[in-house]
Amino acid sequence: MAPVMGVEDLKEIGGKRIFLRVDFNVPMAADGRITDDTRVTASLPTIKYLLEKGGRLILASHLGRPKGKNVPEMSLAPIAAHLSGLLQKKVVMAPDCIGPEVEKLIGNLKNGDVLLLENLRYYAEEEKNDPEFSQKLAALAEIYVNDAFGTSHRAHASTYGVPTVLKPAVSGFLLKKEVEALSKLLDNPEKPFLLILGGAKVSDKIGLVGNLLPMVDIVITGGGLAYTFVKAKNWPVGASLVDEERVPLAKEIIKKTYELHLYDFHTPLDHVIADKIAPDAKYLTTDRGTIPAGWIGVDIGPQAIKEYTDCISRARTIFWNGPLGVFEIDQFAVGTMAIARAVAASSAYTVVGGGDSIAALNKAGVADKISHISTGGGASLEFLEGKELSGIAILDKK
Ligand code: AMP
Repeated sequence: MAPVMGVEDLKEIGGKRIFLRVDFNVPMAADGRITDDTRVTASLPTIKYLLEKGGRLILASHLGRPKGKNVPEMSLAPIAAHLSGLLQKKVVMAPDCIGPEVEKLIGNLKNGDVLLLENLRYYAEEEKNDPEFSQKLAALAEIYVNDAFGTSHRAHASTYGVPTVLKPAVSGFLLKKEVEALSKLLDNPEKPFLLILGGAKVSDKIGLVGNLLPMVDIVITGGGLAYTFVKAKNWPVGASLVDEERVPLAKEIIKKTYELHLYDFHTPLDHVIADKIAPDAKYLTTDRGTIPAGWIGVDIGPQAIKEYTDCISRARTIFWNGPLGVFEIDQFAVGTMAIARAVAASSAYTVVGGGDSIAALNKAGVADKISHISTGGGASLEFLEGKELSGIAILDKK
């Protein structure tokens, strides 16, 4: 990937209206409380830099999946209030992301002022990368900056359409830091390279495992994702999460590991199983890999923890995406916590990506022991596959 221009390359910032695409898609409780503000604080260096230089900042983000409708619970207003506290200055909350009222508020901005547009995904045009919608957003500003690494693998209006028409189009400090840290995984990583993959988005992730096999030496699977592989090995999985359609693909991936002589490909040796996914569920640990009918695999078992922590202690480079169990429920978080602590204790180069994996690190209290925490789950996986991310490819090259 050719290096892209960054905010530090901008000649004139003072007095300019700057469209800064950030990823403020933070987890929120039902009462609008932000439960983890990592993504907001991660963009502070870029925000502060542009404000100190006298820019007139227009922040833009999506939140959740409102699917083209104005869903009040997905308003960015609580984030404007939170950011205002972090910056110790007023953050103007716009009632919309386009339109005359927004234009008026932007017209009133002075140098060093900051405004947050309302949720971009209130318009279906955002995800469709609609050219007219992109033009309307682009018309709000004179400079485009992308600091939304977590969304940069999507060719949406705010990540692709706007920088197509609004120039200069450059990266923020967070985007740059992510690219530098993740590039270390692609450029001659120290071996053995361990991939830890868990979580529940089986359809999104299972194909990636296949693509990543040639570059890694050890693969550990856990969480919901593991059961499609367990089923592919013809082990009983009970009522566990399985992507039936992708069992043949899982079989192919297992076959490919033999062809590549990648014998360190692991599915859990044992499991914690439950009769339902709920805090008051009945649960027990299986003796071996078999899961009886009606039971759900919700965590890796003690033998799997031992085997997996051994793998972690052998690795020199580690990439982890997705929890190894339903870690939101304490009884089913044991495996994920053990893996988090083992990764944190490792002297390898460690990268952890994805919202739930970050939450797991925070729950284990070890986030500061990781070499790089990526704010992007899907984006970091696509980057690892060597794909050029749309939202980065469209930026001005050096
Ligand atoms: P992902 O976004 O793909 O990383 O998935 C994260 C989610 O996977 C978390 O909410 C976990 O509770 C869930 N998860 C982890 N293990 C399992 C499992 N064995 N069965 C169902 N869901 C799981």
